[in-house]
Amino acid sequence: MRLPRQILTMHAVRRASSVPAGMVSFVPACSTADAHSLELLQDFVSRARRLFVITGAGLSTESGIPDYRSEGVGLYARTDRRPMQYSEFVRSAKARQRYWARNFVGWPQFSSHLPNSAHRALQRWEERGKLHWLVTQNVDSLHSKAGQKRLTELHGCAHRVMCLGCGAVSEREELQARFIALNPEWRAQTSGVAPDGDVFIEDEQVLHFRVPSCEACGGILKPEVTFFGDNVNKATVQFVRDRLAESDAVLVAGSSLQVYSGYRFLLAAGDRKMSVAILNIGPTRADHLAELKVSGRCGEVLSAIHSV
Ligand SMILES: [Zn+2]
Repeated sequence: MRLPRQILTMHAVRRASSVPAGMVSFVPACSTADAHSLELLQDFVSRARRLFVITGAGLSTESGIPDYRSEGVGLYARTDRRPMQYSEFVRSAKARQRYWARNFVGWPQFSSHLPNSAHRALQRWEERGKLHWLVTQNVDSLHSKAGQKRLTELHGCAHRVMCLGCGAVSEREELQARFIALNPEWRAQTSGVAPDGDVFIEDEQVLHFRVPSCEACGGILKPEVTFFGDNVNKATVQFVRDRLAESDAVLVAGSSLQVYSGYRFLLAAGDRKMSVAILNIGPTRADHLAELKVSGRCGEVLSAIHSV
């Protein structure tokens, strides 16, 4: 639904005051969730004893991380850039060089993002025994930073790096130090950080960027993140299915569920005739499976819901 221009303008003005100067806002335009929707969502959460929550990029936009698909503000709307494909990363040293150069530049900002009131609300729900399990499609580590324990990062985490040769996992922060040591003179002009920490720099700037390999075996280093075209680990999927089977209701927060890896759990919830509620700005792939759909900002709505 398109909002009248006046409302959009009001949002733009209001956002400008709450976002640091020079930083683009990545929260899509949206009217405040109405009181009736909030009551229904409160009722939904109150009835659930073991709530299963799925989150996506819409949860992190309020922390300053853009999503991929939102109208006007998502990565796809603002640029012609598309995420790295798994096969391209594995096949091409040039693609890896480009990927890591941009990731290197984006890292200081990307790694410094903080959880917002949505992450904090879900962490409180866990503390109070309301939330049984949380599955996130985000790789930004913000749920971990908020202290969430009953958590599966379905698509991995950009704060970890794995070796495609020996499988060793290391901290992304350590790799940053190796990048700096290997590229003491390298500088690049940049603009804009993507959901996975990618930034936009010219190809010619990338040519001289040096990429380290695994210290143990010399293998290729890759973020421990599921790239597009890659599959989520089967054991992880089964683990999440088991947690879903132990739950009695499903809440989707901040995801359009366009990617099958997350959507499959909604299909499973549908098969189990579980109650499903969706909180998201804009339509989702699972709207037909939900008994309740609330349109609103995750931080604003979730922090208004009590976990009783
Ligand atoms: Zn290795």
